[in-house]
Amino acid sequence: MVTDLIPFLDLKAQTQTVGSQIHAAIARAIRDERSTWRREAGAFEKRFADYCNVACCRAVNGGASALRLALLAAGVGPGNEVITVSMNFVAATAAIVSCGATPVFVDVDPVTWTMNPDLIEAAITNKTRAILPAHLHGLMADMDPIMSIARHHGLFVIEDAAHAHGAVYKSRRAGSIGDFGCFSFYPDKNLGAHGEAGAVVTDQPELARRVSLLLDRTPEDERNHIFARYDGRMDEVHAAILNVKMDHIEACTEARRSIAAKYDQELSDLALARPRPPSHSRHVYHIYALRLLHRDQALAMLGRAGIGVGIHYAVPVHLQQSYVELGYRVGDLPVSERLARELLSLPIFPELLPERPGIVASEVRKIATREPRIFQSDWAFQDKMPRYGRLA
Ligand SMILES: *Cc1c(COP(=O)(O)O)cnc(C)c1O
Repeated sequence: MVTDLIPFLDLKAQTQTVGSQIHAAIARAIRDERSTWRREAGAFEKRFADYCNVACCRAVNGGASALRLALLAAGVGPGNEVITVSMNFVAATAAIVSCGATPVFVDVDPVTWTMNPDLIEAAITNKTRAILPAHLHGLMADMDPIMSIARHHGLFVIEDAAHAHGAVYKSRRAGSIGDFGCFSFYPDKNLGAHGEAGAVVTDQPELARRVSLLLDRTPEDERNHIFARYDGRMDEVHAAILNVKMDHIEACTEARRSIAAKYDQELSDLALARPRPPSHSRHVYHIYALRLLHRDQALAMLGRAGIGVGIHYAVPVHLQQSYVELGYRVGDLPVSERLARELLSLPIFPELLPERPGIVASEVRKIATREPRIFQSDWAFQDKMPRYGRLA
């Protein structure tokens, strides 16, 4: 077995850089007898709300919980439909199903790889209650048309922002445009705890109150629960860790962006599809993916060269085993299906040593020179339905 010379992700390196601060913060959280006061979690909620530029944040025990709580707070339940994307991690769909509702998938834009707003209207029925776009890889979905369609039809908008801490769309932060923004702080995310953690943000205090009621957190309702209790609060230890990491989030995000800029620069003359963020957007590069005609061959070749690569995501959600009963077939979402076959993720994380993006790029170039077929571009596909993708 070949060991990765350049790992796809190295969480140990991150723990080392902030390790002593984290140990001190954990010790402090454990020493604090009044941990039920949620001192650390309360401080984190305030900081993360400010960071997202919204009024309210509720710290919870995972990204999947955040999505489920937002859906429940939006009143999503049995008999409802929620419009979402299949080109995403499975958690959003799982959250919709866990509320008893039905996910309805629309395809993504071939340039930005996020929800194609042109396809939403046709998917709306009298059962639709919410739209749930995802900011795939750290690039925000085209929120303006999504919001105007949602407002026109009286639908909630829930952003799956698990890849997008600090991302910006036309001067607005991820999580601040929809009714709810849902974040994950799973260890491999751009802001990571050491286990399960997440947050729901909203600019609407009434919606935050509903999330609090679901979390059983409002004293005035202690004896008379308005909603059935749903356990999901963030614990003090994770909040303490995240409070330390919040000091570094902007530096970490800029480190990701400069690695992406390096890849962009070094690969610019190759005929391959790279991320193309519109100029009004700040992409935060949770993932940096290339689109390759023969991805699996490139994956094997880069693997042999000792480069750790990844796939996000290999099987679009509508074709996953767990959702066969939804009745989707191969060919229903052609852009999502094609991206699932063609996207290949390169190493990108703040602690990646400075010379390494150059090494990765030169291995990619070597393959492109030796096997140009793998990289054969297909701009007809790329430009078929450009919309938000039409670059400024
Ligand atoms: C990680 C992730 C989630 C789920 O978060 P957990 O904290 O693992 O529950 C949801 N959506 C996306 C896009 C993710 O990457």
